[in-house]
Amino acid sequence: MLEAESLAAGAKIHALMRELFPICRSISGDGVRRTFELVSRHVPLELTEVPTGTEVLDWAVPREWNIREAWIADPSGRRIVDFQDSNLHVLNYSAPIRARLPLDELREHLFVHQTHEDWIPYRTSYYTENWGFCLSRRQLDALPDGEYEVCIDSSLEDGSLTYAEAIVPGELEDEVLVTTYSCHPSLANDNVSGIAFLAILGEQLAQRRLRYTYRLLLSPGSIGPIMWLARNEDRVGLVHGGLVASCLGDPGPMTYKRSRRGDAEIDRAVALVLRDEEGARVRDFVPLGGDERQFCSPGFDLPVGALSRTPADEFPGYHSSGDDLELVRPEHLADSFRVYLEVIDVLERNGRWLNTNPKGEPQLGKRGLYRSVGGGSSEEAALLWVLNLSDGEHDLLAIAQRSGISFGEIAAAASKLREHGLLAATSAA
Ligand code: ZN
Repeated sequence: MLEAESLAAGAKIHALMRELFPICRSISGDGVRRTFELVSRHVPLELTEVPTGTEVLDWAVPREWNIREAWIADPSGRRIVDFQDSNLHVLNYSAPIRARLPLDELREHLFVHQTHEDWIPYRTSYYTENWGFCLSRRQLDALPDGEYEVCIDSSLEDGSLTYAEAIVPGELEDEVLVTTYSCHPSLANDNVSGIAFLAILGEQLAQRRLRYTYRLLLSPGSIGPIMWLARNEDRVGLVHGGLVASCLGDPGPMTYKRSRRGDAEIDRAVALVLRDEEGARVRDFVPLGGDERQFCSPGFDLPVGALSRTPADEFPGYHSSGDDLELVRPEHLADSFRVYLEVIDVLERNGRWLNTNPKGEPQLGKRGLYRSVGGGSSEEAALLWVLNLSDGEHDLLAIAQRSGISFGEIAAAASKLREHGLLAATSAA
């Protein structure tokens, strides 16, 4: 069932990605708002606008950026680079400019990809004011000498930065946080995939009965989590566990980066699910990478890890026009979706129980539990493991870990034993 649900989700995520991909996003501006509008067709969003100049922790909210057009015309007047063709052509967050200048001077404002001559690189200039264009090395090398005309019709003005949250309520006030960044323009895996993924995840979670409350956060990289943390400092203790979702559609294996704590329930849950995924990798926390840097800064130290396929800077095409909708396939999105649902299932069903008959094994046969269910020996093994380790110390996750049996089988055995009064709740459950 998870398989079919995930395949449908993969197709939906890819369809939404095709809508989101052409939009020019940045850390702020109307491209971000348009993006949230499309996401909100799948899951209702609460938007927060934080005005330019607002101090957030050690940072201040920068000016809002918007862009209408940008192009370079060669000496014959032909437009050789045009923002209409690809929004990667303009240095993201570029200041406005309208000028005529010789090629030598123009070159100082042109950026090319380091290694691949056909890719347009993705470059930003958020915290130092600059203007510029990005183009392929092949295109740059073909430019004739002469006078060029450049136009960047953008604005950098007081406005606001926008972030969006979707809250899917569960029985508990405690929250599972799933976050992604919303600041990248036409880049598919990093990270239109994360935005579309959260939209469809929210849509699906809203149809379930949940124990935890799920908070989905979409915000510009770094400054977004910083704003959110600054504004929610008094309630971050409710975050039971979280995942930074990114790069979810490439063909690489799943990769998990543990939270700074390393052994939080979310870390153990993801590690257990990935135990059974071919080629999957689990890595320790390092203070480099994506938004987990903010959630895992020492003053917060939240149990938030990062779950992706190939991490951002490790796949070919990263931060360039090579990261397109061909790289990201519905079947890989579906596979990532299934893994996320499995992790959520572990969090939802995990708990600690007490064996009510710990002296000797309880007689399963007379309760119809032994060899009663098609003779599956792993099912019997799951019953025995749960009975043996339900001492109030081990949770179901630890039992699945230690027994080598899947979490689903361990959880099913636990419900069966509960039905027969062989397990009781602990206060810590
Ligand atoms: Zn990136």
